[in-house]
Amino acid sequence: MARVLLVDDLKFIKQIERKALEESGHQIVGDAKNGLEAIQLYMEIKPDIVLMDITMPEVNGLEALKKILTFDPDAKVIICSALSHEKALYQAVKSGAKEYIVKPFTTERLISTLNKVLEQ
Ligand SMILES: [Mg+2]
Repeated sequence: MARVLLVDDLKFIKQIERKALEESGHQIVGDAKNGLEAIQLYMEIKPDIVLMDITMPEVNGLEALKKILTFDPDAKVIICSALSHEKALYQAVKSGAKEYIVKPFTTERLISTLNKVLEQ
């Protein structure tokens, strides 16, 4: 069981993620709608793992990823984004994201990626 922070500006994406993760026995400990909230919540909650969107208002997922890694170099962040943002996905992995998930994703893909990163 992992304590998970969900970050996406779209509510329905987080609803899908929440349902899949809770059904697999994980716990959602926070829910942010932009990078700024993600950074604040990360520092406050110290989740085991973060599922992070890239394209969001205020502070985007790449910037939030970098800030979180500055605060906690061991942070486990999985980036979720559309393949049309291929460059940003590549950038995210280069910046320290542990994995990425391409939207639209299946429940199986989400859970297997999360479990893989947790085992690292
Ligand atoms: Mg978005």
